[in-house]
Amino acid sequence: MSIARRYEQLRRRVPDHVTIVLAVKNRTPDEVREALEAGATDLGENYVREAEAMIGALGPAAVRVRWHMIGRLQKNKINKSLGLFDVFQTLHAVDQAEALSRRASGMGKRVPTLIEINSAAEEAKTGLAPEIETVLSMAEAVSRMEGLILSGLMTMGPFLEDPQAIRPYFRKTREIFEAVAKAGLPGADFRHLSMGMSDSYPVAIEEGATMIRVGTSVFGPRPIQAA
Ligand SMILES: *Cc1c(COP(=O)(O)O)cnc(C)c1O
Repeated sequence: MSIARRYEQLRRRVPDHVTIVLAVKNRTPDEVREALEAGATDLGENYVREAEAMIGALGPAAVRVRWHMIGRLQKNKINKSLGLFDVFQTLHAVDQAEALSRRASGMGKRVPTLIEINSAAEEAKTGLAPEIETVLSMAEAVSRMEGLILSGLMTMGPFLEDPQAIRPYFRKTREIFEAVAKAGLPGADFRHLSMGMSDSYPVAIEEGATMIRVGTSVFGPRPIQAA
């Protein structure tokens, strides 16, 4: 099946209120262009350099896209990131958020941001501990930052074969999401819960995701990268 057909099928299968962010890492501009022609609106990249190359290669086709930073935000590339991305999904520390806010407000921008939750509290993953107090305190700080709009939460969850096994971590993140939403922080626009990937998005949507990040189920298996 073609990329366009797979995207259209996914879009039909996913409820209208759920935003589909296509993860385009290691894809070619032609593959991404095909998804855009089929109606994709939101694209995610993990690295600044790749995003820059992709946006350049797509040319006019990239203009109406909402670009999401879904990888680790590198401090020395914040200015460049702000020129490329519309939404930052991986905030995980107050000093990092402050650095982003300072540069954004210097450019006269307020950028939508999501706080990343390390929902299974894994050593190797970034993100806040999955505790309401911890997340609420960061959310309060971000909501006061001039250059940022607190827009929601994001989680990767653990990589487990069985998507059902990830459900408790999505549920935990949703509970934290609801607690923050209930706090009604002034200045925030708190409405996105970004969770679920190709294997796990149906479970994530059942658990309240409003945004999924999908690569392989639209583009096919990831190409093996030459070293
Ligand atoms: C690659 C990636 C995805 C999508 O993964 P697939 O398994 O290809 O759907 C989602 N989120 C992040 C942060 C990613 O890097």
